[in-house]
This record gives sequence, C-alpha cells and structure tokens, in this order.
Amino acid sequence: MRLSRYFLPVLKETPSDAQIVSHRLMLRAGMIKQASSGIYSWLPLGYKVLNNIKRIVDEEQERAGHIPILMPTIQSADLWRESGRYDDFGDEMLRISDRHGHEMLYGPTNEEQLTDIFRSHVSSYKQLPLTLYQVQWKFRDERRPRFGIMRGREFYMKDGYNFDLTKEDALHAYNRHLVSYLRTYERMGLQAIPMRADSGAMGGDDTHEFLVLADTGESEVFYDSAVTELTFGDRDIDYGDVAQCQAVLEEFTSKYARTDETHDAALFEEVPEERRKVARGIEVGQIFYFGTKYSEKMGATVQGPDGKPTPVHMGSHGIGVSRLLGAIIEASHDDKGIIWPEGVTPFHCGIVNLKQGDDEADAACESLYAQLTHAGLEPLYDDRKERAGGKFATMDLIGLPWRITVGPRGLKNGVVELTSRKTGESEDLTPEAAVERVVGIYNL
Ligand code: ATP
Ligand code: MG
Repeated sequence: MRLSRYFLPVLKETPSDAQIVSHRLMLRAGMIKQASSGIYSWLPLGYKVLNNIKRIVDEEQERAGHIPILMPTIQSADLWRESGRYDDFGDEMLRISDRHGHEMLYGPTNEEQLTDIFRSHVSSYKQLPLTLYQVQWKFRDERRPRFGIMRGREFYMKDGYNFDLTKEDALHAYNRHLVSYLRTYERMGLQAIPMRADSGAMGGDDTHEFLVLADTGESEVFYDSAVTELTFGDRDIDYGDVAQCQAVLEEFTSKYARTDETHDAALFEEVPEERRKVARGIEVGQIFYFGTKYSEKMGATVQGPDGKPTPVHMGSHGIGVSRLLGAIIEASHDDKGIIWPEGVTPFHCGIVNLKQGDDEADAACESLYAQLTHAGLEPLYDDRKERAGGKFATMDLIGLPWRITVGPRGLKNGVVELTSRKTGESEDLTPEAAVERVVGIYNL
C-alpha cells in the first residue's frame, strides 16, 4: 500500500475524552471512529488488525478441531424464553420488535441459537463430540461503555460451543479450549493468564477467564507471580490426546490465580509472600463448562449407547476479538505510539522515502516495495512529499514493527536503514539484505 493513496486519518491532537492509552492511540492512529456511544466504525488500519486477530483465532480453533459457522446477530425472543434467560439478561439486552410485532433481540451471546441448531440436526451420540464456533458481532447495552472498543456496546466476539455425551468428554473439550486459547494469545504477542472465575449468568461451576495484566484493566486479580513465568511456546500438541490436554490445564492452572469474584484470602496466604501479587487485568476470554443446563431446558438430547434419550453436556467459550486490539496496545506501546507484535501488525514493514521526487531514492523504494510484495509481505510505503520528521512520527504512531528508511545519502554508500520499532535500533544494510532480513523475520 502507498500511503499517498491510503485512508489513514491520523489525528495530531490527543483526543481529550479518551481516558486510557489504547483508546487514545486507536483514535490518533485513525483506526476507529465512534459512531455513537460504545459503537464504532472500523477504519482501514483498525479493520486490518481486527481481521488479523480473527484470522489467528480461526486458525487456532480449526487446529483444535472446532468447526466455524455463522449465526445471525438478530435472534428471536422465543428462543430465549425457552432457556429462561430472556428476563434474566435484563437491561443489557437490546430488544427490538419487527413490523409484525414479533419480539426480537440483538444477540449478546448465542447459547440458545446454537442449541436450537443442534437439536434440529443431531440425534445420536454417534454424531458427538461436536464443537461449533463463530466470530460474530454481539450487542450488550453496557451501563458504562468506555475505553473505546475495550468496553463497547457492539463488539466482535468469538463464541464456541461444545456438545458431548459425557461429562468427561465435555471436560476434555474444556481443556482443548484452554490449550487453544493459550496458543491464540501467544501468537498475538500477549500473555493471557487463565484465572479461576465466576460463571455469572452462564451458570455452571467450571470456568476460567483469561486476563492480560494491565494497570488499566477493569478486573482486580490475585496471583502467584510464578504463573507469569509459564509460556506455551511452540510445543506440539495433539488435541485428541486427553492426558496431554489435561496436563497443560494442570500446568497453567495449579498456581494461585483468581479474579476478585473467586478470590480466597486464606488460600492466597499459602503462596510465599514475595510471590503474592495483587494487580489489575483485562479479560480477553472466558471458557465455561455448564453440563446439561441448556440441553435439559431446551431439549437437546441424543440417543445414547443404551438407546435412551440423554441430554448432552455443553460448554461455551468466548474470545473478545475486538477488545483484544485494546489489550494488545495497552501491553505494547511507548510514548510515540503503538508497537504491534509481528503476529497482528496491519503492515509487515514501513518504507520511508526521505527524499520523495529524487530519482534514485524513488527507484530504490519502488524496488524494495516490489521485492517485499513479491515475497508475500504487505509493506506500507510512505511516498508522500512530507518532511522526514512527520513521516517518522506517523510510522511510530501506527506502530509497524519494522521500518526501512531510504535516502540519497545512504544510497551513495549502497545502503538503506532497517529499524526495529520495539528497540529503536537501526542497522545499515544493502537493500537486498534488508528485504531478506524482513522476510526472514516473518518466516515466509
Ligand atoms: P465483562 O466481565 O468484561 O463484562 P463478560 O464476562 O460479560 O465480560 P463474556 O460473556 O465472558 O463477557 O464474553 C467473552 C469475551 O467477550 C470477554 O472475555 C471479553 O473479552 C469480551 N467482551 C465482553 N463484553 C465486552 C464488551 N462490552 N466490549 C468488548 N468486549 C467484550
Ligand atoms: Mg467473561
């Protein structure tokens, strides 16, 4: 992409109504625009990152054997009356009626909708196990929408639902989700710690929330600092292997880590004092096992091996796809702007032409642009007739992890400059070596 032709409405001023850094930076970098309270348009740069996050979520879900579908945002109230949640959900649910007077709602989540699909099409235990998921917009009429897309009213969420014959199978599905979530967040450059949580309106006993530690987080968390030393890394995992998934769950959940809803002061005291931490966190996901709560109410039964109708064991699992943009920025920025982790960056590399209009500099930039593109990368070429300072400021603000700077002086010596956004370190390289380095970083 050439910046002169792109739509990147960066703001010079810091928006005064944005209270936290991720919100400020998303507005300044031209990623989002508020449409009304808690509802946002996604401008090109923000939309690109949103899609990158979705792609990682999709890849990791499919790797775990979960099957993507898409359900509507507008649902029928009748379905929610069956589960009893139409009234339970209260004011957070946006209720609508259509021209025929039918009561509808904008889905805050989809347990009912999916249970309905399940009961219409699955009748035998032989069709189990089954896990379906979607990435779809949700609406919750939050009392206090704030922090930009972090607590929106309309937000993008991955929600998955498992159906299993037995509790053991459903707990394996729970573990599979925990493992796949660990991988998902790490690929986004984030540490998200599974913490024992409260199941709230979902019901059920087993639930973990995934929290990214950040001072601006809305949840108070209590943990043993040893949990922050755990990383999933690129270990091989067989999602069909019950013992292996269980071992990962135990490794990542045996240290004390809880949100304030389930915090147990006496248990916490058992953690050595120097490792006892009280901090704040951003909830970026949650997994639930809730047994037969929905299947019994909504008649989601299968014929069991004994020929008898058996209600299925279920769980649901959510990732805050749009909230993740905010969480990543909270975890990765400096006073100049965003620092995107390579896994989610909107463009792989920036190219800054220090002297637009200079034949040699222009030709060198065009050549870099062509080589990077040919290698399968997406560079963002700042080809505007602007001062170098302004170009650097824009690149730093939008946070591309790598920048290649091209100017007549360097070119005289046959070099361009490759700079890391994260460390600020620069290196002079031949244009070919710079391309090779960047391609190598992205492992293409
Ligand atoms: P919270 O406690 O933050 O209100 P929740 O526990 O009600 O969230 P879940 O039903 O667990 O939310 O939804 C799954 C994920 O969707 C959450 O972990 C969170 O990352 C994201 N999410 C929930 N509500 C919002 C919102 N209003 N704006 C953006 N993301 C949200
Ligand atoms: Mg939650």
